[in-house]
Amino acid sequence: MISTRSLFCRLTFFLFAFLFAEAASFASSPRRSMRLDCQKMPCVQVLPGAVSFSASPKGPFVAGYDAQKKLLGWVVLSTDVVDIPAYSSKPMETLVGLDPQGAITGVQVIHHSEPILLVGIPEKALHDFTKFYVGKKASTPVVVGRASKGAVSVDVISGATVTALAQNKTVLESARAVGIATGVLSVSAATPGRFIQSTEVWDWQRMRKEGVWGRLTVTERQMGVKNPQGEFVDLWYTLADAPQVGRSLFGERTYAYLMKRRKAGQHLLVVLGQGSDSFKGSAFVRGGIFDRVRVEQGLRELIFRDTDYFNLTNLNSKGAPRFKEGAVFFTSGAPLDPGAPFRMIFLGSRYDGTGGFNRDFRQFQSTHRLPRSVYQFDGPDPYAAMYVQAWRNRSTEVVVLISLLLFVMGLFTARRFLTGEMLRLKRLHVGVMLASVLLIGVWMRAQPSVTQLLTLADSVIHKWRWDLFFSEPLIFVLWIFIAIVSIIWGRGVFCGWVCPYGAMTELLHKLGRKLKLPDFELPEKIHTPLRYLRYVVFAVLLVVFLISPIWGETMAEIEPFKSTFLVYAWKRPWGFFLWWILLLSLSLFWWRPFCRYLCPLGGALAIFGSFRISGPKRRSFCSSCQICTKGCEPKAIRPNGTIDPRECLSCMECEATYRNDKVCPPLVGIERILRKAEQSEEDKKRLARLMEQRKDV
Ligand code: SF4
Ligand code: SF4
Repeated sequence: MISTRSLFCRLTFFLFAFLFAEAASFASSPRRSMRLDCQKMPCVQVLPGAVSFSASPKGPFVAGYDAQKKLLGWVVLSTDVVDIPAYSSKPMETLVGLDPQGAITGVQVIHHSEPILLVGIPEKALHDFTKFYVGKKASTPVVVGRASKGAVSVDVISGATVTALAQNKTVLESARAVGIATGVLSVSAATPGRFIQSTEVWDWQRMRKEGVWGRLTVTERQMGVKNPQGEFVDLWYTLADAPQVGRSLFGERTYAYLMKRRKAGQHLLVVLGQGSDSFKGSAFVRGGIFDRVRVEQGLRELIFRDTDYFNLTNLNSKGAPRFKEGAVFFTSGAPLDPGAPFRMIFLGSRYDGTGGFNRDFRQFQSTHRLPRSVYQFDGPDPYAAMYVQAWRNRSTEVVVLISLLLFVMGLFTARRFLTGEMLRLKRLHVGVMLASVLLIGVWMRAQPSVTQLLTLADSVIHKWRWDLFFSEPLIFVLWIFIAIVSIIWGRGVFCGWVCPYGAMTELLHKLGRKLKLPDFELPEKIHTPLRYLRYVVFAVLLVVFLISPIWGETMAEIEPFKSTFLVYAWKRPWGFFLWWILLLSLSLFWWRPFCRYLCPLGGALAIFGSFRISGPKRRSFCSSCQICTKGCEPKAIRPNGTIDPRECLSCMECEATYRNDKVCPPLVGIERILRKAEQSEEDKKRLARLMEQRKDV
């Protein structure tokens, strides 16, 4: 028969499983982007003085005119020209204005889903950030945070690094796309760079190793071929302007010839093909246009004609495989930025099942970018992954943080030293907690939060993004640390030593004791069930976050972390301020009330920490002694002397007692008997019993 408690647990489990599944399906449904509409959107604010707007024939943006019908510039909605996901995995939908001199006239965020800016950091911080771009040329290299050579820097939005990095890319790339499309900005002026001139001639292996080739493979199955055997086309493509690549592929003379024939702004695009079909097709023979392949970059499309084409039969490169067909195209029709990613498009007509191909076209594409060993920008790389700048910005903090975390791991590795003397242990513990509060909390503002776990869950369901996790270097390092220590020693190493908020509340409690404030504890009857509340908080947050990250982020304000380390609590809505002050005040005379009963992050980590490899040492006689039980602040030691890994915060004081034969009563007993000159039968029996119980459990 099922007990009422068990029935309740099962029902709760099924309820959460149902809610989780619903939330997951809700989370995977995409949101529709807006359309540029100057009747409804504040286009005037980003192009001051404009009184009328009309669609531009040059791209998906509008031209703005003053009362005398004079062109003032253009307005673009970023999502029409670039796709740059921010922290929320969704783009910042932003209006950007550009004048005919190539200067940005205004930036206005129309919509975003950045949780941190909707709850936490005031929206004004984002508006202040975007103001920086007004008046800057679209070609200006701007980096967020620490400046690099040849670039201007804009201050990062504290606590919203990823958002700031994404918004910087969004504004600049949108403005540049409009500038290039309208002709007010040339590709070479927008992102100046050059092919690396090397005297080396790379062999095939070296080219592959350097990442010279992009590849687009289409299988026969994808093309609807009956009894598919393999690849329909397998295209290898690159730009061969750099001598180390061009000389290798064509040989010295042909490379020199092609480079001489090339007109200003043109590049040598090489396409090599394998597979059962041809990327050239036969249409080009009739119309002079290669209709199966083209290249796209931003708003620009490059189509190839027979006048741009050279047949490439043999490759000169040492070690190159044989290809069925090859071509060199002079890029034309639109400017190509050789340093930027570009898309190779293959357009194939589907097999009709009766021996021919019908007009049901299928399009396939792959994106490639030349490696830096082939092409380099003169200033900072405008297409570098966002996390590169984030790590540059925080390199000093990363070094300090890693040093502190390695020190803590070192202490736990040298457990005999750590727990060899109680006073030393306590001093080290207080020292590390103080360092965590001041360095990780106050200086680095890198308090880990449950929202990062929730974002991780959202990424798993929605779309996995490595760049998102790399873009917060300190948080990334801390989570690696949390994962390692939780598996080895349990979550207590983080919660008990490193978590800035937890450390701060414990230090406050110590201060309260010094001030002789009363010490409060809940009765056992309330404490025991209340410990489970943090798991409920975590489960509810998980479900809500998957339905709506904004609601999830709002509810995650149960964590007072933002008010403690990110935004001054007194500048936040009064509810958050009251909550923050209440928890701090309680901590003065109540040992870590938030950690023990409410913290959803602590709850989630406790679940993972249940399976720790190594906890504090215990002996058989711990079940009868109980001296450690009384000293264990989180009440993690069970009546039978074993330790609940979910509750233990790894203060290690019980292990220090375990090692101390002047404090641990059974050890004291053993010592006393051993010191006796003459042992009675009773002593011998007792000694034998104690020695047996001294073994670790
Ligand atoms: S329980 Fe929460 S606040 Fe407390 S130490 Fe752990 S993570 Fe930090
Ligand atoms: S005294 Fe309690 S919290 Fe500290 S290590 Fe032992 S069981 Fe864990």
